Amino acid sequence: MMNNNLPSITEMIEALALISEDKNLLTRRYLTSQHKKVNELVAEWMSVAGMKAWQDPIGNIVGRYEGHENGLPALMLGSHLDTVVNAGKYDGMLGVVTAIHCVASLERQGKRLPFAVEVIGFADEEGTRFKSTYLGSKAVAGTFDLDTLDRLDSDEISMKEALDKFGLNTENIPNAARKKSEISAYLELHIEQGPVLEENNLAAGIVTEIAGATRLTIEIIGKAGHAGTVPLHLRQDALVTASECIVKLEKIAKASANTVVTVGEISIKPGASNVIPGHAKFTVDLRSSENSIRKKVENELQQALQEICTNRKAKLITTKTHSAESTKCSNNVIKQLENAFVKSGYPTYFLPSGAGHDTAAMSDLTETGMIFLRCRDGISHNPAESVKMEDVEAGFQIMLKFIENFQPL
Ligand SMILES: [Zn+2]
Repeated sequence: MMNNNLPSITEMIEALALISEDKNLLTRRYLTSQHKKVNELVAEWMSVAGMKAWQDPIGNIVGRYEGHENGLPALMLGSHLDTVVNAGKYDGMLGVVTAIHCVASLERQGKRLPFAVEVIGFADEEGTRFKSTYLGSKAVAGTFDLDTLDRLDSDEISMKEALDKFGLNTENIPNAARKKSEISAYLELHIEQGPVLEENNLAAGIVTEIAGATRLTIEIIGKAGHAGTVPLHLRQDALVTASECIVKLEKIAKASANTVVTVGEISIKPGASNVIPGHAKFTVDLRSSENSIRKKVENELQQALQEICTNRKAKLITTKTHSAESTKCSNNVIKQLENAFVKSGYPTYFLPSGAGHDTAAMSDLTETGMIFLRCRDGISHNPAESVKMEDVEAGFQIMLKFIENFQPL
């Protein structure tokens, strides 16, 4: 998979990993000088691979490889180039550089297809800077919310100011949106970020849907008191109540198919070893590939928590902080991916994605599909993120077969 002057996938990954806001770890947020540098580098690789490259009005980098004639609708391939704080080097980046290598292979073979191929590196998927995800892909899909421009980063810089400083004009953002007639499908290759493929001893899998998520903040108000003087049966201990709630949450989620629940943050007040906790606050992250199941579980959770709090004479306050519907990948793309797996000699395996991806936003614009690659121990959003080179090769072969055999609907 080498073109003259085109670095290998591994070399590209290593080069991108060096472009960081922090010398000791990988952090690359939206609209920073590192974002600019990465776009320049990726644009250069796109050109070497035979594409015409440009930066769109939201800061995505796009490359286009024309088909049999100029201006045909495109099969779009890509992922994101931004990172979380202290990231791994494969999340997002691997999908972009693999796609560039696929186009380079077409160019090397002198192959033009009955459609154009575009590669896109999305500018912001993680939402690290402005706490709003999918900024790049939403702009392309035409669903970018202009109110987001007023959001502030941790230094009180608004997204609008940051765009100005980066050299982008906010008035042009609507022009980042692509027409449905221009894009036939979007395919994203991404590391799984979970342990399922590894568990099944598989290099790659086909994503069926991207899970929907609900996030809640739960507050339990009991009564603080002296740890020595208040008998157990007279207490309204907020932490013991919260503990019972958390165990119950797990029980309810376990009883529902394709559902996971996580309590990732908890705090108590007053927080002293000799004081009964009067106040407990925790988050609930609930995900399911089926919207109806997620909503049913959410209702069950609320009822169960209320019951526990009533029994323990504590007050319950529930606030919903986030809600996103699950997104199905397109059957047409899934079928063509299945074909590409078989033709390149890899067993097909279907799995849902528990994490969000640009694919979810892109499904408002076009037909979508995803290839997941195995990653070591399922670790992601961490420097320990790791993939096997033979799996990267598998991803490349599968993606190339998919492109070569792609049939627009
Ligand atoms: Zn990602």
